[in-house]
Amino acid sequence: MAILQVTRHGDPLLTARMEPIGDVTDEIRTLLDDMIDTMRNGETPGVGLAAPQVGRALPIIVAEPPPDHEGTEAVYNGAVVLMNPEIVYATGNTIIEEGCLSCPGVTAEVERPSHIVIKGLDRDGNAVKLEVEGALARIFQHEVDHLHGKFFFDHLNPIKRQLVKARIRRT
Ligand SMILES: [Zn+2]
Repeated sequence: MAILQVTRHGDPLLTARMEPIGDVTDEIRTLLDDMIDTMRNGETPGVGLAAPQVGRALPIIVAEPPPDHEGTEAVYNGAVVLMNPEIVYATGNTIIEEGCLSCPGVTAEVERPSHIVIKGLDRDGNAVKLEVEGALARIFQHEVDHLHGKFFFDHLNPIKRQLVKARIRRT
């Protein structure tokens, strides 16, 4: 495992859309391991990470499930790893403060669905479908946004968004 460099807001890959993966190769599995290591042991540890944040144009996300997470699908080394993730159902509404490893030190309250169903491929390339709520649902939505070139502040109204972007530019 290796700790990768996390890119900052402004890196062009962070506003790009990722194309789906065909086969899960050994190279991709190594990247997954490194992403988990980076999420846990990087300069700023976090609870989720998307491949474009470590400079790789691939639709891969990793997330740290909360301690009470009971599902074992797509769990590898204690983390949930998904390739080609797609949110196929979302309901409910909740406001939670979010931050991002690519915008260190800046947070904002973001409104998003509270329950989601997400499908994708696990580390072995098997199709999985997870129904999640709470913190993990929030992390998944944040990380899937990164695969579509979006940041958490893109969900804010224009005035709040400009304030958050101004704070990011100052960091
Ligand atoms: Zn982020």
